[in-house]
Amino acid sequence: MTETLLDPGIGMTSRRTRERLIQRLMDAGIDSPEVLRVMRALPRHLFVDEALASRAYEDSALPIGHGQTLSQPYTVARMTQALLEHGTPDTVLEIGTGSGFQTAVLASLVRRVYTVERVGELFERAQERLGALKMRNVRYRHGDGAQGWPEYAPYQAIMVTAAPRGIPRLLAEQLAPGGIMVLPIGEGPRQSLVRLVRHARGGFGHEILEPASFVPLLAGVA
Ligand code: SAH
Repeated sequence: MTETLLDPGIGMTSRRTRERLIQRLMDAGIDSPEVLRVMRALPRHLFVDEALASRAYEDSALPIGHGQTLSQPYTVARMTQALLEHGTPDTVLEIGTGSGFQTAVLASLVRRVYTVERVGELFERAQERLGALKMRNVRYRHGDGAQGWPEYAPYQAIMVTAAPRGIPRLLAEQLAPGGIMVLPIGEGPRQSLVRLVRHARGGFGHEILEPASFVPLLAGVA
């Protein structure tokens, strides 16, 4: 009963459907206890329109308007795990706030998240949602994420949730020594999820993690 009261509109199946999603993530190779804990706890249905709420615990991407999507839970979990694998960063810069779901995952795991979104309406709605969830360790910026957010740089980690053609130079420069950036790279359906490391002694290294499919990183604001 308590669950029904806490989650109006999502119903009694909520716990079971959420558990099924967590099992699916584990089957797909997500093994970070922290990531699984946060994915289990966060109410993903609050990040989509009510009409889509019943599909919020399926492992699929969902539309959030403006031709954009809330990433598939597996993708959110995979990127977060890739970001945390070398130790939990203190600060994370996120490019592409979208619904704010990935932001909420990060904000549950690190001290502070800086997030940048180019579409004004998405930017505002994400702030409202995260405010309602009392996530106070997030700073928001309406702007072009390819420029990063120089004011608070350098960041120990950067996560990009829209695909540029190549690694944006300005973003790489805002990475702290020893820092990590996880991002999709490429055009159309042929994208790769990449982890870039800024070596403490200078220079960058990267590894390709797996194929990816993201909306493109677009220039300017809307
Ligand atoms: N993490 C989001 C993913 C949203 S899709 C979620 O799970 O909901 C990618 C987002 O990146 C979209 O909201 C899109 O508007 C935004 N975006 C695309 N190009 C951008 C840019 N240059 N700067 C900031 N945000 C950008």
